[in-house]
Amino acid sequence: MPKIDSGLAAARRALIPLLVCALALVTGPATSFRDAAAPLHVARSATARGWLPVIPAPPTGEITEAAQESSRCADPSGTWLGMRWRNELRWRVNERTIPAYLGDRTAVVDTLRSAATTVDTGRNDCGLPENLGIQESYAGKTDHRAGVTADGGCGERDGHNAVSFGRLNQGLLAVTCIWWYGGKENGRSVEADILIDDTEGLFFLSVPPGCGSRWDLEGTITHEFGHAFGLGHVAFAEHGSLTMTDGLPDCSTAYRGLGLGDYLTLKQQYGTN
Ligand SMILES: [Zn+2]
Repeated sequence: MPKIDSGLAAARRALIPLLVCALALVTGPATSFRDAAAPLHVARSATARGWLPVIPAPPTGEITEAAQESSRCADPSGTWLGMRWRNELRWRVNERTIPAYLGDRTAVVDTLRSAATTVDTGRNDCGLPENLGIQESYAGKTDHRAGVTADGGCGERDGHNAVSFGRLNQGLLAVTCIWWYGGKENGRSVEADILIDDTEGLFFLSVPPGCGSRWDLEGTITHEFGHAFGLGHVAFAEHGSLTMTDGLPDCSTAYRGLGLGDYLTLKQQYGTN
């Protein structure tokens, strides 16, 4: 039973609902891949969900849309995992794993593609040029599944950048695993997989009436693609309006684009084309 389902309606309004992301960097065992001497490393970024008893600051309570928006374009904060792509990230979706409750599979894939495009181009809410020119492309369907285990660990890489839905334990929403060569600093990313929890009713494509304890698929996956390209987390308490925050409110579509810090951090690493 996920923690988020235990909430009391009244208490829910008194709390800031958080989607908690725990980021853990794992140095994997040396593995051969083409260059036998190069150790392969794995980074795991888990996006967990649940309610945290964050006490809202009265009398304002929850972050208003207006306040959210203004700080989103004023906060230049960001962190970098260390590794990045030198070539195009071509990724595929395992459509058969898309849960039925999300409806039309094409709409789901379009949502995932939109999230990837946001990070690729630097689509943002702040009027900044959308020309980051990071190279990624959606390459169609695959039968491969993300190399992510149900407990949120990283499995085997298989040479395919797969996005799939599946079971995730411990209230995890989505997990991104990255494999790279070289040192963590300036490493060369070679694979990124994203596993999205397929629990019924967890996500929405557009905010449902009377929304509660559901998350925006697009915003969540924008965050995950941010990880795939190399962005790390910023703390919710100080940077809760940025897309790479480690806490995201439920029922909000405010995280579909990039905030200032998300954008600037990507731009610093990938530049513009
Ligand atoms: Zn995260």
